[in-house]
Amino acid sequence: MTDLAADPAVALRDAGLRVTESRLAVLTALAAHPHSSADAVFAEVGGALPKASRQSVYNALNDFADAALVRRIEPAGQPMLFELRVDDNHHHLVCTGCGLVQDVDCAVGAAPCLHPADDHGFRIASAEVTYWGLCGACAAEAAA
Ligand SMILES: [Zn+2]
Ligand SMILES: [Zn+2]
Repeated sequence: MTDLAADPAVALRDAGLRVTESRLAVLTALAAHPHSSADAVFAEVGGALPKASRQSVYNALNDFADAALVRRIEPAGQPMLFELRVDDNHHHLVCTGCGLVQDVDCAVGAAPCLHPADDHGFRIASAEVTYWGLCGACAAEAAA
């Protein structure tokens, strides 16, 4: 798989997507800030590319997700987040204090990471785990 961060234009072409300035800026923003909301990506892209519209950023994120260039994660109670790390079935630690999101490698190294006690006839493709808790900084603050 093409290294997105190293050559985003090639990654776009490989995915059959037209290379545009705003698409490249979105990939660069996600490489710098994984687990960003669409609004955060838009804010980041706006710094480098003031003429990029909010809609073009949202469209790029959706196109990337559909092309499996980015992964959407949706922790309960948070806006949808986007990241470039795909296809490794990794999981997430989410801080209930500050919202920090951290990657955790898949516990067994392949999907599905977990097998349900009863699969009800489903052919399980993936299992996504969200570990909720306090990050180190929030835990220290809570203890103080
Ligand atoms: Zn925290
Ligand atoms: Zn992640």
